[in-house]
Amino acid sequence: MEKFAVKTSKQLEFVDITSSVQAIVLKSGILSGMCTVFVPHTTAGITINENADPSVRADIIKELDKIVPHDDGYAHAEGNSAAHIKASMMGFSQNIIIDAGNLALGTWQGIYFAEFDGPRTRKVFVKIIKD
Ligand code: ZN
Repeated sequence: MEKFAVKTSKQLEFVDITSSVQAIVLKSGILSGMCTVFVPHTTAGITINENADPSVRADIIKELDKIVPHDDGYAHAEGNSAAHIKASMMGFSQNIIIDAGNLALGTWQGIYFAEFDGPRTRKVFVKIIKD
């Protein structure tokens, strides 16, 4: 398993980690297989979405924040329930096919670390399985 750190600078933020994951795939030398990207946190997630227009990420964050506002009479005493809920909505891992030594992402797809309780330094785990 490979690991890398992601430093976030806002409370809610999507960080493009595609190049970091791709570098791990290239280093592995594996041409065909599966790549799992996993976040070992409860208030951050992983998603795949558009990498061209940054306003797409901003819209996703804005709408998630409308569905799950920061304050809404939550029971969890730590005060970050909204972050836990948003992280579960995104999920904690993504699987990406490796084909010809590259991530088989669509032209407009990027892999995003989704921060919901930043700023913090976070961890991302990557596991590559050869087929
Ligand atoms: Zn909490």
